[in-house]
Amino acid sequence: DSSNTKLPFQAEVAQLLHLVTHALYSNKEIFLRELISNASDACDKLRFEALDHPELYEDQTELDVRLSFDKAARTITITDKGIGLSRQEAIENLGTIAKSGTKDFVSKLSGDQKADAQLIGQFGVGFYSGFIVADKITVESRRAGLPPEQGVRWTSGGAGDFEVADITRPERGTRITLHLRDDADEYLNAWKLKQIVGKYSDHISLPILMEKEEWKEGENDQPGDMVKTGEWETVNKASALWSRPKKDITPEQYEEFYKTISHDYEAPLAWSHNRVEGSTEYTQLLYIPSKAPFDLWNRDKSAGVKLYVKRVFIMDDAEALLPSYLRFVKGVIDSSDLPLNVSRELLQESRDVKAIREGSTKRVLGMLEDLARKQKTGPESGEGKIDVGSGESVPAPEPTEAVTDVVDKNAPTAAEAAAAAADESGKYAKFYAEFGAVLKEGLGEDFGNRDRIAKLLRFASTTSDTVSVSFADYKARMKEGQDAIYYITADTLAAAKNSPQLEVFKKKGIEVLLMTDRVDEWALNYLTEFDGTPLQSVAKGAVDLGKLQDEAEKKAAEEAAESFKPLLEKLKEALKDKAEDVRVTTRLVDSPACLVVQDGGMSTQLARMLKQAGQ
Ligand code: ADP
Ligand code: MG
Repeated sequence: DSSNTKLPFQAEVAQLLHLVTHALYSNKEIFLRELISNASDACDKLRFEALDHPELYEDQTELDVRLSFDKAARTITITDKGIGLSRQEAIENLGTIAKSGTKDFVSKLSGDQKADAQLIGQFGVGFYSGFIVADKITVESRRAGLPPEQGVRWTSGGAGDFEVADITRPERGTRITLHLRDDADEYLNAWKLKQIVGKYSDHISLPILMEKEEWKEGENDQPGDMVKTGEWETVNKASALWSRPKKDITPEQYEEFYKTISHDYEAPLAWSHNRVEGSTEYTQLLYIPSKAPFDLWNRDKSAGVKLYVKRVFIMDDAEALLPSYLRFVKGVIDSSDLPLNVSRELLQESRDVKAIREGSTKRVLGMLEDLARKQKTGPESGEGKIDVGSGESVPAPEPTEAVTDVVDKNAPTAAEAAAAAADESGKYAKFYAEFGAVLKEGLGEDFGNRDRIAKLLRFASTTSDTVSVSFADYKARMKEGQDAIYYITADTLAAAKNSPQLEVFKKKGIEVLLMTDRVDEWALNYLTEFDGTPLQSVAKGAVDLGKLQDEAEKKAAEEAAESFKPLLEKLKEALKDKAEDVRVTTRLVDSPACLVVQDGGMSTQLARMLKQAGQ
């Protein structure tokens, strides 16, 4: 056949394929989750395109995914009636890694199987996971809207290359056939396949069908066997997880759903599932991951929230739904009010989206406050605040909207509550270690919630090496007469702790917050006070210890300033290009001199950062 073309995989794909088949060996069954989720995505895409082009449905408006196996041929087949692939799309989508972030990521993998398996799990290997169980994959497809003769067959053994050929395919959509490896026998079994569908794909809103089997006695001394009946049955719940009542969803199902949408290996730290009613109606299912993704700092790829309108998938990465400093949040928002053909541009302007964004932001902050509270009270005293199975927050009603639980939940037993509390108590620290620095961006980005964000921040200090001191903790420990929250910024904790600028504070036993995140300097420009107490950098201006300084000290300082006047004049003259002022100070105890910047001036730390960035 002249249309038959052999093409090499892109280098990164070949590398990925090698890793997939070796590193993911211990978790083979995920291949089915990935292929079913692709089938479901393909149906979502068709529905979306058909909003403007209903003719794409042809005579097939009912969408489903069919899963079958052939024991004799040793194949598993997954068939959908979704958008399909053109020849060109098959070449591009099944031969290269289009997403630039992912491509960079793959090229950075170390080759160390254990480490890489962890990383790979984070972004999901998708289609290529089929090669964990198959030594040959055949994809036959026709894109919606193209004539039957423009079908495509893609085949590959998962090594260096793949083949594409033109075929005639009357059915719209895609059929993927996995030719199983010798050691993948276990998947040629209806019970096993149903079990995997139940575990990973129950939340998919499309029906997943399998052919019914029945037992047939053997004849003439032959053993009996299961035989296909030609009748198809739905083997999943076939309703979107978030649209179901809470009480019907187990924690495991919430966790599996999270893993599917986030491609995360690990279970999430917390989630919140609510139906919001009022002037804007929507369902939100939001998750806080336990680990930062590899591209957290890439602000271009910012959002993790999928937007649905009345169960129809509209878009991924809907950044209009949450502010950028909450870009670590994953989940789904399903609106009943937005038009189905809403575009990204339209989202930016929509009043409903503004309400959703505000509501979702508050919800996430509420979840974090909840985790923080449980962290603080610890396992002994957390009783009575624990929701079953998750870190759900108690809804804080908005003035214009009523937040209702999707359905009541049963109260936990005392033992369950205690176990849950023990489990909850370390979560905020875990969250903060991964995402604290991102959360701080909120000080500059979300003025309306600045106070709530400030309360969620944690720092190390001169009395605590762990990043666990809140502004409120600090205030509660302030010395009598102290009227500012003191902090210092530096590159590292060691540098902060050993700064000469801390000497007088140490001597007087005044706690100083030690800030070592790169964003601290910038973020603190937006936070000048906490709960009425000003924040004061110990590295800025002539630190005025106010009432903390006794009369004798003040007098000594004034006298020193007087007697050192001639020396100061000389130093000022000698340093006139380098220093704006030279002062006698009381802030030092052991060191002879230190550099400070003027109040309102750019700190040395920020100046260094800008210099590093080439400014
Ligand atoms: P992802 O789903 O994250 O995009 P995958 O590796 O799972 O990555 O799939 C790669 C691409 O292959 C998809 O984006 C899609 O374009 C195409 N694809 C895979 N399966 C199907 C399918 N059943 N129907 C149509 N296109 C598909
Ligand atoms: Mg996929």
